[in-house]
Amino acid sequence: PRGRFAGKVVAITGATSGIGRATALAFAAQGAAVGFCGRRAELGAQVEREIRRAGGTARYVRADVRVEKDVENFVRQTVDSFGGLDIAFNNAGISRTARLHELGTDTFDDVMATNARGVFLSMKYQIPHLLARGGGVVIVTSSSAVEVARPQGAAYSAGKRAVQGLVQAAALDYGRDGIRVNAIMPGTTDTALVRPPGMDDATWTAARAWLGEQNVDGLHRIASPEDIAQAVLGLAADDFAYMTGAGVFVDGGAS
Ligand code: NDP
Repeated sequence: PRGRFAGKVVAITGATSGIGRATALAFAAQGAAVGFCGRRAELGAQVEREIRRAGGTARYVRADVRVEKDVENFVRQTVDSFGGLDIAFNNAGISRTARLHELGTDTFDDVMATNARGVFLSMKYQIPHLLARGGGVVIVTSSSAVEVARPQGAAYSAGKRAVQGLVQAAALDYGRDGIRVNAIMPGTTDTALVRPPGMDDATWTAARAWLGEQNVDGLHRIASPEDIAQAVLGLAADDFAYMTGAGVFVDGGAS
C-alpha cells in the first residue's frame, strides 16, 4: 500500500456511520489497515466493502463499547488481523438531550457508559499494543461543546468532560513511552447525531444551511464528516509529533 499511513494499523470505534466512517475511509485511502467497530453489523459490512472496493484494507468487528469483552475482542481481532496497532481513534458516542430533572437515570448512565467508560475501556485494551510497538497515537472524539455546555446537555457535557480528563491523564502516563494522546473537538457536523430522526432530505438541507448561518463569525457552514476525518489524520501524522494531552477545536471558528 502507498500513502501517508502505509504500514500503519488503525483501530476506530464507532465507524459504522458519520465521523468514524469518514475517518476509516480516509485512513484506508492513505494506506493504513483499518480495524473498526460499531453495533450495526449491516452498516459495518457495508463500510468494509466500500473500503475494499476502493483498494483499501479493513476489517469490521461488531462491538458495543459499553461491553468490556466486546472492546477486548475488537482490539484483539484488529491486532490479530494486521499484526499490531499504531493509531487508535476512539470516537463512538451518542447524544441524548433533556433538561437535567427530566433526563432518565438510565439515559444518563447510557451516555456515560458509551462516551466516557467506552473510551476508558478502549484505551485500556489498546495501550498494551501501542507499548509493544514502542509508541503510538490515541485520538479521542470530544466536542466543541466541552468548554461551554449546551442547553439540555447534562449527560453529554459530563461525558465529554470526562473524556478530556482521560486524555490529559493518559498523556501523562504514557509520554515517556512515546504514546501521544489528544482530543479532537468538532463543532456541529453533518451526521445522524445532529440530524433529527425521520427528517426528509429537503428539510435537512434547509436546516443544515440554517445551522451554518449560526457559525456567523467563522466559516459560516457546519462541518462535513470528511472535514473532521482529515483533521484526525493530521493529528495522527508525525507533523504533530510534539503535541500530546491537548484538545483541538475543529469547529470552523464557531466557538
Ligand atoms: P453518528 O451517530 O453518525 O456516529 C456515532 C458512531 O458511534 C456510530 O458509528 C455508532 O455506531 C457508534 N456508537 C454509538 N454507540 C456505540 C456503542 N455503544 N458501541 C459501539 N459504537 C457505538 O454521529 P457522529 O459521527 O457525529 O458521532 C461521532 C462522535 O462525534 C461522537 O463521539 C459524537 O459525540 C462526536 N461529536 C459529534 C458532533 C456532531 O455535530 N455530529 C460534534 C462534536 C462531537 P452503532 O450505532 O453502529 O453502534
